[in-house]
Amino acid sequence: MADWLQKKGLQKFIKTIGLPLPVPVDLPRQKGSISLSSNDSYEIQIESQSNLKDLLEDLKYSFDYKADKFNGLVFDARMLVKNEDLKALYFYFNKNAKKLRSNGRVVILSNLIEEDSSLEFCSTTEAITGFSRALSKELGKRGSTVQLLQIEKGLTELRCLPSIDFFLSKASAFMTGQVLELTSTNIGTSEINIEQSLKGKTALITGGARGIGAETAKVLSREGAKVILLDIPSAEENLKKLAAELNADYIPVDVTQPDVLAKIREKSPNGIDILINNAGITRDKTIFKMTEDYWDLVIKINLKAAIDLTEGLLDSGLNDGGSIIGLSSISGIAGNLGQTNYSASKAGMMGLMKKASKAGAFKGINANAIAPGFIETTMTDKLPFFVKEVARRMSSLAQGGKPEDIAEVIRFFVSPGGAVVSGQTIRVCGGSFIGR
Ligand code: NAD
Repeated sequence: MADWLQKKGLQKFIKTIGLPLPVPVDLPRQKGSISLSSNDSYEIQIESQSNLKDLLEDLKYSFDYKADKFNGLVFDARMLVKNEDLKALYFYFNKNAKKLRSNGRVVILSNLIEEDSSLEFCSTTEAITGFSRALSKELGKRGSTVQLLQIEKGLTELRCLPSIDFFLSKASAFMTGQVLELTSTNIGTSEINIEQSLKGKTALITGGARGIGAETAKVLSREGAKVILLDIPSAEENLKKLAAELNADYIPVDVTQPDVLAKIREKSPNGIDILINNAGITRDKTIFKMTEDYWDLVIKINLKAAIDLTEGLLDSGLNDGGSIIGLSSISGIAGNLGQTNYSASKAGMMGLMKKASKAGAFKGINANAIAPGFIETTMTDKLPFFVKEVARRMSSLAQGGKPEDIAEVIRFFVSPGGAVVSGQTIRVCGGSFIGR
């Protein structure tokens, strides 16, 4: 379950004998709880006409414009509204991209296209998406990431701040080349706090006994959430062990069973605040060889169970100001050979979260699909070596992700600071070349 090209001894050997292999860089990751001092001495450069610099400085960042190297670059492109303005991107990054340290972060802010935006405004705004995606591919081999945040007119800088902070942090190590819309539609009344952001929240995680689900449980619990793990009865030993470690509750039940909602409500008399639809399986075969039971099982577990849970809890059981996440996949975006059933279920999950975002808006509930790329877990360990290698290397960061990479992204989007993002599919794929 590990990337052979990331073994230190082997990397040394490859370098010594000069083998032309794309040795991936190590990605420093979040260690321990999120704290206001965790980005101390983190030098960034910011180009903005707003008060963002002051806000970031108040948070924890430092600025030294004479420095030759930076950990992060923040470029506010909201002034770029005409075709000719685009050249500012060229001037800024042509000069400054080389000053970005390895494992650096680039965050670009731009406008959100509105109903009455002009043709030139729309095309200029879209041009910035192409620029940022291309930049992410160029910087990826150094372990650096690039994100574009499109900000709704009128959204306060203070509301944008947690997203900028997250994308400057180690917690977003495996996410790059993404374009996210920041809006006020689904933000509840919860106060934004960076430390212990989930204190007092209850989170239900399906498929929580191992892999991405188990890691998400650890990260949410680390940030103060009370966790309820749900998984199939045969995983009870794992559930019990993890629950004891995290002081969590657990429910050994198949997510497709009719009594699942009743069991969840019984365990959470005060309702839940965070629903993570994570349980999922693969049953891969090309459509010619796909058996009906393979088709049915994947749709039932990966999608129908998530629909029933989401609908049921939106109806009653999910508290105001809560969050919903659905685990999708880049296979749901691009389609994948031998995965017609899985890709259909994962694209369905994106539709489910989009609709849930609309349904939850008036209660301040946000809902998003997370689309992992290749993540090193028991699920992907079963794949043939060659398939794994292609999946790992065909990405800007040239490696697979770890379950904690997904967990950290989930943690951010279920916290009050992440509520500005809703109804979207967020890829956590190391900039996989597959799909948009
Ligand atoms: P995993 O196989 O390691 O874990 C999945 C968990 O879901 C297991 O604990 C399993 O027992 C549980 N589960 C399966 N069927 C269930 C059911 N009927 N009821 C309750 N629990 C059930 O998988 P993972 O890699 O951690 O993946 C988690 C999610 O992320 C899945 O939805 C998967 O499709 C998605 N995903 C994973 C990757 C990846 O590369 N690992 C990529 C894209 C998407």
